[in-house]
Amino acid sequence: MADSTLSPDDAAAFRQRCVDFLEGYDPPRERSLENSRRFLLAAADAGLGGLVYPVEYGGAGLTKEHERIWRSEKAKYGSVDSDFVISHGMCLPVMNDFASDELKREFLPDVISGKTMWCQMFSEPGAGSDVASLQTRAELDGDEWIINGQKVWTTLAHHSDYGVLIARTDPDQPKHAGISMFMIDMRAPGVEIRPIHQIDGGKHFNEVFFTDLRVPKHWLLGEKNNGWRQATAMLMYERVAIGGLGSGDISQPIFDQLVKWARKNEKIDDPVVRDELMQIYAMETTKAMVSMRTRAEMKAGKAPGPGGSLGKLFGSKIHWRFRDIAQGIAGMESIATDGDAGGEDLWKLVLNSFQSSIAGGTDEIQRNIIGDRVLGLPREPAVDRDVPFRDLKVGTQRD
Ligand SMILES: Cc1cc2nc3c(=O)[nH]c(=O)nc-3n(C[C@H](O)[C@H](O)[C@H](O)COP(=O)(O)OP(=O)(O)OC[C@H]3O[C@@H](n4cnc5c(N)ncnc54)[C@H](O)[C@@H]3O)c2cc1C
Repeated sequence: MADSTLSPDDAAAFRQRCVDFLEGYDPPRERSLENSRRFLLAAADAGLGGLVYPVEYGGAGLTKEHERIWRSEKAKYGSVDSDFVISHGMCLPVMNDFASDELKREFLPDVISGKTMWCQMFSEPGAGSDVASLQTRAELDGDEWIINGQKVWTTLAHHSDYGVLIARTDPDQPKHAGISMFMIDMRAPGVEIRPIHQIDGGKHFNEVFFTDLRVPKHWLLGEKNNGWRQATAMLMYERVAIGGLGSGDISQPIFDQLVKWARKNEKIDDPVVRDELMQIYAMETTKAMVSMRTRAEMKAGKAPGPGGSLGKLFGSKIHWRFRDIAQGIAGMESIATDGDAGGEDLWKLVLNSFQSSIAGGTDEIQRNIIGDRVLGLPREPAVDRDVPFRDLKVGTQRD
């Protein structure tokens, strides 16, 4: 990805270009997959898609500073493309890092313009936090890989055209060593997608089953059996994408929501509520600043490191506090609806907010990473590090 420092004049000119596009396009208020897709297509047509990616792969070949400016202007219109956070925040950088030039030329332009949507297939019923225990396997048969197994919690698999998958390619090696990464056609025969019904009535994620799925040999991403290192890179991108979601500027979206509800429930003058609102304001401001630091480090050429876990964990802590305050302000209305919520869905926000402690790695796992790799504390004991995977009692390997 190109990078250089922008002159103030160039930065101002680019910001104006973003403002002109956004004002001209005027993204619709209603958030939907189709609206996100249309927005991305229009942005790509205007030369504002995939800003930091090379032109030959459908990007704009610009710098991370351009990206930051674009992000901050775009955020003024809310989450105009949030359904593509996995496609763009995780699959795109991983494809850019590990796919062959041929695959990048063929697939990246459509990822960038939102013509195709991508999903991430890591978690399995027996492999979540300890994802290296995964049992989905890929075996080479001539010019094709044959994939069998099951993934779970695959966000937006049912809308995705392609996905990035990790599978076991050598069960005789220890669990971290025998894993490889592939791109998968989600519409191919051998892929079955079953939706999971959520507490808020939504269906965002899925179980995905693979039965003798055939994948072209050259759809292996990176090197065979190097998938763990590549998966770790993807998880780092994920934590930055989730932890740094939003503008790249300082903003307080949860505070704004709570203020709205405090007004509606005539609690805005209550001194205790005001105190709590200021706590959330301070927490969100701090989180935005941590995200800015992470992005500045990335701009300076550092790969997103374990520090991304700080933003991710703090985002989760903000949601814990948000739930407490929302219940104090709105009582029952914050967790239930009588079906006449009039579009004001605080209960949905509250119920959905639990996911931030789990998705992309749980709070406990983020604390482990911060302990090990940021603070330099001793690592957790691991007795299975050197044992061949096929001898481990993980997943369904229990007999
Ligand atoms: C909204 C949402 C979207 C998701 N989208 C995707 C997706 O698109 N693709 C995908 O692959 N996955 C996805 N996931 C799955 C997610 O990555 C896993 O749920 C997560 O990694 C936890 O794994 P698990 O659910 O198996 O829980 P487990 O790993 O079984 O954990 C259970 C509990 O044990 C604790 N625990 C486990 N190990 C340790 C340890 N070593 N130290 C301390 N505590 C520990 C955990 O913190 C947790 O509290 C999604 C999850 C959610 C909630």
